[in-house]
Amino acid sequence: MAATVIDGKAVAAAVRAEVAGGAVEFEAAAGRRAGLATVLVGDDPASHVYVGSKRKQTEEAGMRSIHHGLQADASPGELLNLVAELAVDDDVDGILVQLPLPDGHDQDQVIERIPAAKDVDGLTVASAGLLAQGRPGLVPCTPQGVVELLRAGGTQVEGAEVAIVGRSILVGRPLASLLVNADATVTMCHSRTRDLAAVCRRADVIVAAAGAPGLVTADMVRPGATVIDVGTNRTDDGLVGDVDFAAVSEVAGAITPVPGGVGPMTIAMLLRNTLDAARARAGVE
Ligand code: NAP
Repeated sequence: MAATVIDGKAVAAAVRAEVAGGAVEFEAAAGRRAGLATVLVGDDPASHVYVGSKRKQTEEAGMRSIHHGLQADASPGELLNLVAELAVDDDVDGILVQLPLPDGHDQDQVIERIPAAKDVDGLTVASAGLLAQGRPGLVPCTPQGVVELLRAGGTQVEGAEVAIVGRSILVGRPLASLLVNADATVTMCHSRTRDLAAVCRRADVIVAAAGAPGLVTADMVRPGATVIDVGTNRTDDGLVGDVDFAAVSEVAGAITPVPGGVGPMTIAMLLRNTLDAARARAGVE
């Protein structure tokens, strides 16, 4: 049995189209476009590519991209002041500081300068707390993308056993909260998990977010389970996920590919967060 391949590109395109429609309505109601501020420090080529895509897709969705590029040798104070200015700028609905920051900057301190209302990456302690308590707030983009893909693939989350492999602040932890809030039973695995294969084998849904190529093998997957691969690993064979796609797709019921699965969802959810933040700030439904 070959698994259904969940097409992240198509789902992301649908989310972008929905956001673009909402952006037009927002502009009509608020008299201004929703705005996303991006902050990039230094000249890391991969970060430049990511921020470039975010800016382009923001504009394509009918929202305003406001970009600030700082030199690699910008002082910590300079960056903190910039984020503080954006925090009180009425035209800025969302603030995205591209991570990782160059050495010398305190990432946590910078993130905490972002008010929860503009925290479109969902990385502040305030946003994490709201999510952990099941209260409304802005949710990190990649985990939100995972939930959207589960929905699109027709996987029932309510009551499902989910194994999440990876416990990072960016992916695993917020995803666990999101899924618990959606009534799943979640087991969060990590490098010290005693028997990862056994935990995965009893799961209806496996989400691999470890950054370890080939970690999830066919023998770890229950027949018919849904497997979402967040892993993004650059290898000599190109971009691969954490899942042995060829073998696992013979066992799973549904699976996401890499590339073309979770990856495209992340920016789509950032756009949705920006529009949601703009609506909430402007009091527009
Ligand atoms: P991270 O901060 O390095 O965390 C990795 C997590 O996986 C840790 O909790 C680690 O356990 C666990 N882990 C690593 N190797 C393991 C193993 N062999 N068995 C069990 N657990 C293991 O990584 P991240 O930022 O969450 O990213 C994870 C992956 O997702 C990376 O490949 C990253 O590139 C990708 N990613 C993709 C997107 C996207 O848009 N598609 C977005 C974000 C991340 P410990 O806590 O015990 O160390």
